[in-house]
Amino acid sequence: MMSRNSPDEIILSEGEALGLARDFLTAHGLSAAQAEAVASALCAAQRDGCASHGLQRLPGTLDTMAHPAFNRMADPRPEAVTPAVTRVDADYGFSILAAERGLPSLVANARRLGVAILAVNNGFHSTALWPVVEKIATHGLAALSMNPTHDWVAPSGGTKGTLGTNPIAFAWPRAGHPPYVFDFATSAAARADIALHRQRGQEIPAGWGLDPQGRPSTDPAAVLAGAMLPFGGHKGSALATMIELLAGPFIGDRTSRQSAAFDKGAKAAPCHGELILAFNPDLFQFDSAQPDLEGTPQDAAEDLFSRITQQGARLPGDRRYAARAAAAQHGIRVPKALYERILRLFPQQE
Ligand code: NDP
Repeated sequence: MMSRNSPDEIILSEGEALGLARDFLTAHGLSAAQAEAVASALCAAQRDGCASHGLQRLPGTLDTMAHPAFNRMADPRPEAVTPAVTRVDADYGFSILAAERGLPSLVANARRLGVAILAVNNGFHSTALWPVVEKIATHGLAALSMNPTHDWVAPSGGTKGTLGTNPIAFAWPRAGHPPYVFDFATSAAARADIALHRQRGQEIPAGWGLDPQGRPSTDPAAVLAGAMLPFGGHKGSALATMIELLAGPFIGDRTSRQSAAFDKGAKAAPCHGELILAFNPDLFQFDSAQPDLEGTPQDAAEDLFSRITQQGARLPGDRRYAARAAAAQHGIRVPKALYERILRLFPQQE
């Protein structure tokens, strides 16, 4: 695969990308289990063309691992809270391992009971949400996931950072197709996008944020120092508030404000909870009292998807699946500068 390298890009096989990330993390003292979980999530994002949550996050794991509370040896274990509710304390390691360890109980409980909850607590979170919801959907279940971040986002109508960028992801299982998956932040733009504009000396679009005086601004530096804005005005603001509540106080964990305070300037990934729900879509069927409904609920879902795509719109997830297919054929593209930076950041051998 390395033979197709260009001056700006290195092409890695999935095994090579995974090996690079895994070796980097274990070389910096992370447990093998955590390294595998983080490396898999970052490589999946790189493979699927989600650069913001791909290998670009690897150097930043060093800041997270340097946080005084970070636990390189965290070994999270799921515990049953009720028959429908599982909790996994990430024990101040990366939250992705805790989520993965809780998935078997979540899936089994949702199959048995129709709906189940997985609460992940005390995890440093730096990964996209789609890898987990997509995995749940491959078990024939619908899934939702959400978490707070840091209080960078002003509520609609307000001026001060109060809400997180609070991502939400949803997956729906499909027979014969990869799951329908969406996954996005509830802020108008990702914080990393604003930082990228600053780095390139570009203005940001109106509506992304406010300067430190609370005035609308297109200056990325002013917005990073001031407050970001939610997408969709009061609607995004309310959705982000719901995420604060459900993935914060509801599961006994930090709000975005509390998570930012916990960071104490370390610039680590935010440390907080994550709420993951799974639903069994086989629970309800159309019944004979609904003679206008033909087929099964899954047929109705497929009809909805085809009505979306037939008019030229695309389904969320389809770009990723296309990128995944391309990576399977041609390898995973990694900017050369990033690849070399990662190599330079390996600990020096004595
Ligand atoms: P985007 O605004 O880029 O939206 C991404 C979602 O919308 C994807 O599901 C994407 O599908 C879909 N989509 C994009 N364009 C279209 C279109 N034209 N038609 C249909 N669907 C479309 O995402 P964000 O920048 O807000 O978030 C990016 C990532 O950042 C997410 O994975 C999120 O989990 C992550 N994040 C994580 C945080 C954390 O705490 N760990 C905090 C904030 C964000 P597709 O993938 O196929 O393009």
